[in-house]
Amino acid sequence: MTPNTSALLFLALMAVFLAIRGHFTRRMRRDKAVSRANLRDRVLIGLVGLGQVFLPFLYAVKHVPAFADRPQPGGCIVAGLMVMLAGLRMFWRSHADLGDSWSITLELNADHRLVTNGVYRDTRHPMYGSFLVLGVGQALLVPNWIAGLSGLATLGLLIALRLPREEAMMVEQFGDEYREYQRRVGAIFPRWRSGGSA
Ligand code: SAH
Repeated sequence: MTPNTSALLFLALMAVFLAIRGHFTRRMRRDKAVSRANLRDRVLIGLVGLGQVFLPFLYAVKHVPAFADRPQPGGCIVAGLMVMLAGLRMFWRSHADLGDSWSITLELNADHRLVTNGVYRDTRHPMYGSFLVLGVGQALLVPNWIAGLSGLATLGLLIALRLPREEAMMVEQFGDEYREYQRRVGAIFPRWRSGGSA
């Protein structure tokens, strides 16, 4: 059986995603002062690993589940590649801009710095936004209804359940400064602003 080329391309791009994450994880601060990480959050991160990496891998090398295959027009591969590159760029930028304020679960440093510059000027959650863009890339590159959509499904669940808890933690920590940021800047999608404000 020949591995699915389009799904293999997705996995190669996910290797770049994992390399970026590995790079920033090695630099992550370990001395967190506040942690809101709970079991549900950790289970959800595991589910995302299944949906975003394991199922596409199983599909690419073993062609499972074959019954859920869909046709793969060439246009989907080109679009998928472009979407993935845009998602990877956004993922890299959000890590670079968040710097040592980043952590894999809900945590805060003792001297936590609120980041509102770089890609955080346009949306409050550019990293989650980049996950969704990568999920669209997966749907385009993996020609199978289950292994293609499992990324978006699990990421959507993680983001929907985590975002309100993360924002509550930020309001608790930064008070009006964060509330004002919420008023000014959209959560996942940039807000349409008429007229330029400085
Ligand atoms: N939700 C953000 C960040 C994801 S990483 C995004 O999608 O881009 C999760 C950690 O980032 C949280 O534990 C929180 O401590 C931190 N965080 C989230 N938004 C932040 C901000 N604007 N400034 C500083 N830290 C932030």
